[in-house]
Amino acid sequence: MPQLSFYQRVNTAFDRAAALVDHDPHLLQQIRGCNAVYHVNFPVRRDDGRIEVVQAWRVEHSHHKLPTKGGIRYSMAVDQDEVMALAALMTYKCAVVDVPFGGAKGGVRVARQQFSDGELERITRRYTFELVKKNFIGPDRDVVAPDFGTGPREMGWIADTYKTLAQNKLNALACVTGKPVGQGGVRGRNEATGRGVYFGIQEACSVAEDMRAVGLAPGLEGKTVAVQGLGNVGYHAARFLREGGAVLVGLAEFEGAIHAPGGLDLDAVVAHRQETGSLLDFPGAENLPGKEVVLELPCDILVPAALENQITAANAPRVRARIVAEAANGPVSAEGEAVLRERGVLVLPDLYLNAGGVTVSYFEWIKDLSHMRFGRMDKRFDERIHGEFLDAVERLTGRRFAPDERTALVEGPDEELLVNSGLEETMVSAYHAVRETRNRLGPGADLRTAAFVVAIEKVAVSYEAAGIFP
Ligand code: NAD
Repeated sequence: MPQLSFYQRVNTAFDRAAALVDHDPHLLQQIRGCNAVYHVNFPVRRDDGRIEVVQAWRVEHSHHKLPTKGGIRYSMAVDQDEVMALAALMTYKCAVVDVPFGGAKGGVRVARQQFSDGELERITRRYTFELVKKNFIGPDRDVVAPDFGTGPREMGWIADTYKTLAQNKLNALACVTGKPVGQGGVRGRNEATGRGVYFGIQEACSVAEDMRAVGLAPGLEGKTVAVQGLGNVGYHAARFLREGGAVLVGLAEFEGAIHAPGGLDLDAVVAHRQETGSLLDFPGAENLPGKEVVLELPCDILVPAALENQITAANAPRVRARIVAEAANGPVSAEGEAVLRERGVLVLPDLYLNAGGVTVSYFEWIKDLSHMRFGRMDKRFDERIHGEFLDAVERLTGRRFAPDERTALVEGPDEELLVNSGLEETMVSAYHAVRETRNRLGPGADLRTAAFVVAIEKVAVSYEAAGIFP
């Protein structure tokens, strides 16, 4: 049987969940398809004077809520099927974590390592111009963000280009999230997806019953972890997991993979890679015979954080982790997942686990529309109330707080603390909503199907509430 494409795979998961909900089949059909697909070719002048034609896409999967929202990927593997799959996942992801957006995604087919910074800037600005021309970007229309191959720098170029062209200049910065903080970004966005992955894994590990089912003790402390991809998502997930008590035993990047059963010092590995240009030959670690071998390391938790289709029917029988945590979008193929399910591996699905990025993007969008930093109104007010409370405790108990103890207890929340707290609340409550749905669906149900059921229910209700479907 031919392997399903990424978009077919997302729709197969949708169909499995759609069979479990009670909604008009036409409504389900409307939810499932992509509402608008924009494919564009544009020329870019290379530094040596040559003209190169670049292909790009923007897909808006669902307009049940506006704006639509989704990242922009720069990779040679980008094609329409991939962008449609990622746009659809964004709709379901936003619904799972209660972020009031429809799903969208963008992709530009470029080998970014082969372009200079100046060329990438010209590509990014031209792509933005093409989106503006067709009304595929705007604070109230379609809000873009970083994804594979893009980051705050590209988002800054997009914001600047849009601002130059926009009619609605007052809220122009809210057309894109993941911007540098000095350009309307929010503190905590850059690391948000990785931090969300950490909160999701930590929450899953805290449920004793689920850990028993996969033969692990509850809690993150001491669990061994292997991570594929040390980009934005993989690096931050690895960092927070390690800070949370897990032991990093394997890491992979495009040039190779390393293994150290006693644990790797992440920052030392990153420094070694910066110095030598490679993860390989890190002192105290063994080089693995191929980068994909990281997926087969003996460990408790495997975190694929690079690209889709990494765990397939071919290598799933050799995966030794008991938990596969989908930090990337679509890293486990349908056939690979069937094998993992049969082997009793717990899969934490992408549409829940990597939703931390869009959650904090939502906070950034709100910040840009309100034109005010989170915490500005309440930080000092909270500090005064906390101080008065401590004074009362001292008066009533006779106990005196030491100056540094008082400082720590009195401190009011700043933007970063508020963003991280909002992210934690979102990831923890969404995990339990998905888990409870899985339990309600009965034996054999998995977290991916449950997350799709949660998402479909919410999107269907919003269509029905709008009166489009009786
Ligand atoms: P990134 O470009 O910052 O990092 C990806 C890293 O993976 C790169 O360092 C790349 O060299 C490495 N890589 C590529 N192929 C590899 C391979 N075969 N083996 C090992 N390493 C490999 O991208 P990112 O933003 O971290 O995105 C990673 C994944 O997470 C993607 O699937 C993306 O869609 C998903 N995601 C990203 C965000 C976000 O906020 N950036 C949000 C949600 C989901």
